[in-house]
Amino acid sequence: MIYLKTDDEVELLREANLLVGKTLAEMAKLIKPGVTTRQLDKVADEFIRDHGAIPTFKGFPNPYGGPFPASICTSVNDQVVHGVPDDKPLQEGDIVSVDCGTLLNGYCGDSCYTFPVGEVEPDVMKLLKTTKESLYKGIEQAVVGHRLGDISFAVQHHCVLNGYGVVREFVGHGIGKEMHEEPQVPNYGKRGSGLLLKSGLCIAIEPMITMGSNKIYLDDDKWTVHTRDHKVAAHYEHTICVRKGKADILSSFEFIEEVLREKSI
Ligand code: MG
Ligand code: MG
Repeated sequence: MIYLKTDDEVELLREANLLVGKTLAEMAKLIKPGVTTRQLDKVADEFIRDHGAIPTFKGFPNPYGGPFPASICTSVNDQVVHGVPDDKPLQEGDIVSVDCGTLLNGYCGDSCYTFPVGEVEPDVMKLLKTTKESLYKGIEQAVVGHRLGDISFAVQHHCVLNGYGVVREFVGHGIGKEMHEEPQVPNYGKRGSGLLLKSGLCIAIEPMITMGSNKIYLDDDKWTVHTRDHKVAAHYEHTICVRKGKADILSSFEFIEEVLREKSI
């Protein structure tokens, strides 16, 4: 069942998603060599709760094992998604994808950003840049009258053109009162195929892109997904609302990128 959202619901989704953007900006302030992902998780958990929301990832059920133990996913280097925060310090040259979800006033926020840790190799920075570009190319297609496959194709095309792998086992999703609603939003597909996009359709678009092969495996912790060749992977995610002419991006990277700009000065 696909639920199109009313304008009031879209504003509630925006509030939940702006809180995710602000939480990720707190992460941007802290991410540097020596910090642990468990420290990031603690700050994120407190920040979300201090703003009257619930971190949706905490306790999220897993068909293969125990519930998710933390409030953010932190996926470092060859970890693609669903990395579990731990006590290992981040190192100069690492990348870390921080995925964050909130439930605020009954509606969900979901967004992810891949951060460089200190100075990162240029080829890795190019993967981050290209993955983020592919997200916006997908969003450009998320307008009334297009089809879901137009979004999927745009993401895939941009990444494959640059020689990267597109992970297929995990996909974007509808979002609303539930974090994961229909439809699924793959990062690969055919132009002009699939669901016809209507105004009020709210979806999370989230390319998960690999430097090498797109083959993945599940860690023994039953959460963390790694690339099989152990090359690095990037993950960016926005929650958006389909509108006529131009999608409305409900999450935001602006808070994050303001922090990153200040850090680089
Ligand atoms: Mg997410
Ligand atoms: Mg998501």
